Amino acid sequence: MTDSPTRIALVTGASRGIGAETAKALAAAGRHVVCLSRNAERLDEVYRQIIEQGGEASVLACDVTDGPGLAQAVEQVFQDHQRLDILVNNAGQTRDNLLIRMSDEEFDEVLCTNLRSVFVTCRAALRPMMRARWGRIINVSSVAGVIGNAGQTNYAAAKSGVVGMTKSIAKEMASKNITANVVAPGFVDTAMTAELPQQVKQYAVATTPLHRFGQPEEIASAIAFLASDEASYITGQVLSVDGGLSMC
Ligand code: NAP
Repeated sequence: MTDSPTRIALVTGASRGIGAETAKALAAAGRHVVCLSRNAERLDEVYRQIIEQGGEASVLACDVTDGPGLAQAVEQVFQDHQRLDILVNNAGQTRDNLLIRMSDEEFDEVLCTNLRSVFVTCRAALRPMMRARWGRIINVSSVAGVIGNAGQTNYAAAKSGVVGMTKSIAKEMASKNITANVVAPGFVDTAMTAELPQQVKQYAVATTPLHRFGQPEEIASAIAFLASDEASYITGQVLSVDGGLSMC
């Protein structure tokens, strides 16, 4: 029996938080993980941790708002490895404001980072996946994209756009044995939530049935599951990993 070749995974926003833990989880599952974000120094640190744990990785510095540069980065992954099996669109940012005060720039930047980038990477990654007749796409949305959130009309619009886009990809690609799913985290202990006012954090804990923030590893393990062979019959789904918040 011949060993099947190592699967190649691309994780955007892998320099910290949920993305870094996802990269480590996928590497621990035997994937070669290409870690992408803007900050080369932080990417190198994640790379070092993966290698120390016996995993395989490489890094790509890229800004996901640069559409042509991002498409080229995906192409680079394919050129380097002759395959691209798993795509995790995790890079994200917030620029919160009430809608009546929100600038066009705040809206456009959040849509570009959180939604347009997903379109760009999926379009570029689907060709090699279609040729291989195997692929896993996992797009990271948010509880805000499922139930909305005051002060986040830009972010919620982007994140629910990710849900609609992913379900459409799942329908287009099912016949090619490519699955596409969403992971929708609730409040997670990362840099993104670190600056939230104390009263917002307390409200989040109070309204979350499990009464705590999630840890990045808890989101990463859901993503790694959807990327695994065991998730072969799951497509077009939104997996909420939010301590029960979205059911309230
Ligand atoms: P985080 O700690 O702030 O990490 C964000 C990641 O995205 C970083 O690696 C950052 O890397 C990367 N990134 C941001 N803008 C980028 C750009 N223009 N180009 C390339 N990379 C970019 O946030 P997180 O909490 O881990 O969030 C990860 C994902 O989960 C996001 O999509 C977020 O919306 C979603 N989410 C988070 C929460 C939460 O409570 N934390 C809840 C729901 C959903 P560089 O700065 O190095 O570029």
